[in-house]
Amino acid sequence: MKVLILQPTGSQKVDGYVRWSCELIRKDGQQVRSRDVLWFEAPEHDQAALQADDGEPFLIAALMQAMKEARDIEVRGRVSKMLLQNLEEYMAFWVATAPKVFSSVQISADMVSVGIPDSVAGDPLGTEAAMAAFSGGLDATFLAWRHHTGRAGWRSRQIRFFVMLSGFDIQYNESAHVDASMSNAIQTLGSIGASLKTLRTNLRKVLDVPWNHLHGTALVACMHFYKHQARTMLLGSCEKYDDLIIPWGSSPISDPLLSSSSLRVIHDSAEFSRSEKAAGIADWPAGQAHLRVCWLASNPGGNCLKCEKCLRTMANFASQGLPVPSSLGGSEAYLNKYIFRTKLRTQPQEAEWRAIAAAGVGRKKSLWQYWVPVMLAFSKLRRAYYVATGQGARAGVNR
Ligand SMILES: [Zn+2]
Repeated sequence: MKVLILQPTGSQKVDGYVRWSCELIRKDGQQVRSRDVLWFEAPEHDQAALQADDGEPFLIAALMQAMKEARDIEVRGRVSKMLLQNLEEYMAFWVATAPKVFSSVQISADMVSVGIPDSVAGDPLGTEAAMAAFSGGLDATFLAWRHHTGRAGWRSRQIRFFVMLSGFDIQYNESAHVDASMSNAIQTLGSIGASLKTLRTNLRKVLDVPWNHLHGTALVACMHFYKHQARTMLLGSCEKYDDLIIPWGSSPISDPLLSSSSLRVIHDSAEFSRSEKAAGIADWPAGQAHLRVCWLASNPGGNCLKCEKCLRTMANFASQGLPVPSSLGGSEAYLNKYIFRTKLRTQPQEAEWRAIAAAGVGRKKSLWQYWVPVMLAFSKLRRAYYVATGQGARAGVNR
């Protein structure tokens, strides 16, 4: 029998940080095949915490790795029954939508807790205090502004704090990038009086699951270290309800299935396209001025102004008849210059550019807008070629 044992090894303080670790032990029958250490780390002053026997963040983080290897999971710690119930459904979702990649596995835990933790007693549903991850990108910025201005109606929440995570797009040891992104985020959030905490992890170093699939569980696992301060996390949407890409690491179908009795996960803003989100922050100058959307920028904390993501975000604003923010070059010049060499590599990218083309219909066209249908046609051809030659993963078809 193949198993993945999750053995939390507690916390330790090093240089002003607290680190929580968990050993990932792969066993084939009686033989230990490998041992890795997964860790999460936060500055002491941010008051992140995790009860010593809590196995939930490690289980959520490692779930897709175990599913990919068809290994049953044994958690040497405590997990809530609600999380176990939800994760079975979460696995059912992935097995149905990506059957070539993932298998359903058995999960067992040393202790299964039932009911709502005592610490939520003052808030029976445990949902009013909210938190959200903040990367500085358009989705997170829109989410922050939407809730700050009460535009989410009854769903509007006072977000107690935001958390910037490193170890995902920014590597945790790239301190110049981390510091510059933090500084940008603090200026954005400071303008609405919101505070920012941080957390870093080596998750992507020890887990070998495509990021397209992993990012939902990765985000939720990280936020567990702040759940004693807020029992609900808002997870900003990627695609709009009418344009969902399935399977994808985060969606309104799967994200709520990562909720446990101590942390509720809400997928937020899926009624908006990315271009509509751009329009949604048109009245927030600080939000626009410090957008950080780029994964490639060589200037720390900035945007390269050439890559697909940078160009797409410029187009999100321009297609709504809005000026391109200064953080993205301040005009359509970069779009007009670089769009001709942009390749779309995933289906969500295609969906986003299709929506941008639709949003611009009826307005006077800029040069770049004539190229979008051509870019989409090339992308379809490329995907068809890769699928036909058995290289679907190269075109983002990794089901
Ligand atoms: Zn870029």
